[in-house]
Amino acid sequence: MRTFEQYYEDLKKMKHNIWIGEEIVGRDDPRIRGGMNIIKETFDHVDEEEYKDLCTATSHLTGKRINRFCHIHHSVDDLLKKQQMTRVLSHRVGGCIQRCMGIDAINALSVITYEVDQALGTDFYKRFEVYLKYFQENDLVASCAQTDTKGDRLKRPHEQEDPDQYLRVIETKEDGIVVRGCKICITNTAYADELVAVPTRFMGPKDNDYAVAFALPSDWDRVKLLVRPAYFRQSKYGLEAPGLRLGDVETMIIFDDVFVPNERVFLNGNADPRQTPYAGFLALMFAHYHRHSYTGCKPAVSEVIASAAALVAEYNGIEKTSHVRDKLSHLIGTAELVNAAGIASAYRAEKAPSGTYIPDEILTNAGRRLAGEEIYNEYKILADLSGGIVAALPFEGSFFAKDVGELAMKYLKRNPRVDPVNIYRCFRGIENMLVADLAGVMQVAGLHGGGSPQMETITMMARYDIEKLKDIAKYLFGIRKKLHRYDRPPVTPRKMLEKFRKVMELKK
Ligand SMILES: Cc1cc2nc3c(=O)[nH]c(=O)nc-3n(C[C@H](O)[C@H](O)[C@H](O)COP(=O)(O)OP(=O)(O)OC[C@H]3O[C@@H](n4cnc5c(N)ncnc54)[C@H](O)[C@@H]3O)c2cc1C
Repeated sequence: MRTFEQYYEDLKKMKHNIWIGEEIVGRDDPRIRGGMNIIKETFDHVDEEEYKDLCTATSHLTGKRINRFCHIHHSVDDLLKKQQMTRVLSHRVGGCIQRCMGIDAINALSVITYEVDQALGTDFYKRFEVYLKYFQENDLVASCAQTDTKGDRLKRPHEQEDPDQYLRVIETKEDGIVVRGCKICITNTAYADELVAVPTRFMGPKDNDYAVAFALPSDWDRVKLLVRPAYFRQSKYGLEAPGLRLGDVETMIIFDDVFVPNERVFLNGNADPRQTPYAGFLALMFAHYHRHSYTGCKPAVSEVIASAAALVAEYNGIEKTSHVRDKLSHLIGTAELVNAAGIASAYRAEKAPSGTYIPDEILTNAGRRLAGEEIYNEYKILADLSGGIVAALPFEGSFFAKDVGELAMKYLKRNPRVDPVNIYRCFRGIENMLVADLAGVMQVAGLHGGGSPQMETITMMARYDIEKLKDIAKYLFGIRKKLHRYDRPPVTPRKMLEKFRKVMELKK
């Protein structure tokens, strides 16, 4: 396993293909360091007694101990540990741990490449296993580039006025493919070793060129990263806090006619249209694993908000009042429900033919949707209990300036038992959570990351057997004589795979 320092050294050697505004910068630019400091947590605890059981796993390929972020889930326990690891590491960084996109992408690829090979006699799974071995042995950090720019939302890829609005293969060569397009809103690519590109939606028969999946180093030739870093104002007065060192970088990845060698291509409808139906399957599978990861990180986000809300209530002297307790219980309840959905979905997981475990889709999507719908409510509670000062706090210097510092601290006092410097720290921390540049990014991420709530609704409704559900009412209302035992209504992932296999068989 790598250390953070080795990871950083590797990043520094990468080609300069990052644009911040009009500037082209290297991976050592301080504006992207905050995101790396988050990834650091995924390297730092692998040997610590308290964390190593969660943060490492045994590779099914090599038998070696690896970072869990590079692992393929081979049991219910693997899924539970991934979820719990995501939760406890997210506490340490106050939110998104930023390395889950990689693990979610490799797990999805492990399921789908196997399926394609079984149906079509391709060798994608074999390629994938070679890639996975390299990925695990080098302890790589990956981003997952799924979201296309999508142009007109109501049009399919081939119907767009500009055919490049979805990433597509423009040429299949003997030794690889050439891809053109752009993926947008992609987290962490500026400090990821690799990027994994997967389709964003189902592809129809005319969308063959868009059914493409591959992996590349993130500084690969003609890959252009246009980034939006978000970070905090730093302390000039020694009020160093772990939370101040963190940040995020979102990326628009332009694939400017990029060559991808065959060994890194995992789906290509351009070469063989029979592969096209697997694009949607892969899109859903990545989204599914990612939403399961959300049942780990999002409870942590709710807990971070609850923790700040409880602290500021104490500092404001209102913690014993009933409305505060109500609001805190709402935050805790949301965290626990979302987490419970992920735990239950892991217990209901099924083994795919590839050997990879797939959690239950209804539960994962229900948990993720609740998280997305609640996010602004949760921030509202924190803003409510904090009071307006978090949006009106004078800059740090005013609290330490010779003439006004003492006065500023005096007028910040609330609960007399709390040191005003800690009151300042608390309001500064919540200012960062609610009104800083990064706060806005995190709020929108809480809503749309992993797919907007509507996407979860679509997946749930596609999987839930509503006709069977109606049987309960029909029985109760006397329309139907018998009610069969009704304890597992959803169409499970395994059943989906089997159904899909049958459809592909029929098509042959
Ligand atoms: C901070 C952040 C980090 C992210 N990180 C990643 C990442 O690492 N990797 C990645 O791949 N993606 C990432 N995303 C992207 C995220 O998955 C998308 O933002 C999300 O899926 C929504 O897609 P969109 O932004 O294109 O919005 P849209 O799909 O345009 O949604 C806007 C609105 O239009 C509606 N809509 C869209 N299409 C239709 C339709 N056909 N019919 C009716 N209504 C429709 C939606 O329901 C929504 O209300 C990230 C997003 C954010 C904000």
